[in-house]
Amino acid sequence: MVELNKICVFCGSSEGNDTTILDVSKQLGETLAKNEITLVYGAAKIGVMGIIAQSTLDNHGKVIGIIPEFLKLKEVVHLGLTELITTQNMHDRKMQMQEISDGFIALPGGLGTLEELFEILTWLQLGLHKKPIGLLNINHFYDDLLNLLENMVRKGFLSMENYNLLIVDSSIDSLLKKMSEFKDPKSPKWLNSDRT
Ligand code: AMP
Repeated sequence: MVELNKICVFCGSSEGNDTTILDVSKQLGETLAKNEITLVYGAAKIGVMGIIAQSTLDNHGKVIGIIPEFLKLKEVVHLGLTELITTQNMHDRKMQMQEISDGFIALPGGLGTLEELFEILTWLQLGLHKKPIGLLNINHFYDDLLNLLENMVRKGFLSMENYNLLIVDSSIDSLLKKMSEFKDPKSPKWLNSDRT
């Protein structure tokens, strides 16, 4: 079992226009707080980012925000977080998110969310970490992306093994359960080998 003490959530710095996405994002914050899982995220108080952070805090959970200096103004930092970490640049932000988190979840978002999701997924594919990555497919938001990934498998650009590294579910509880049961399929079950 993977112990999920800290989960990093990638999500939109906008709110979008689907209220179900906002409701479920709020529920995720509540679930993290109730399960004593610390939220790690990009530190903004705007968009889905702000909603999940506020919901975690409102339910007495812990939130660690990580933001690069240059984005501090642009993304409007949430000043009520349990801990705020400022990094020199985007690379350091993502490196620190990766290092301190036990797993990752992507919620709906835009280009930044996709970039963050696929970078952490490619790091897993390369064996640079062995942490579970979940996609919370709220209201079919990611259906087209999943179709594209399936097409990559069909056309021979993505192995089924690597496609299966991404844990997908539309239910929060079921996603968290699958993440806690995650086993990197490339690691021999009887060895805890380091592939870095
Ligand atoms: P978005 O999904 O575009 O609303 O962005 C969500 C988060 O991704 C924000 O915290 C952005 O700072 C971050 N982000 C935006 N562009 C990038 C990028 N190129 N690399 C990493 N993170 C990014």
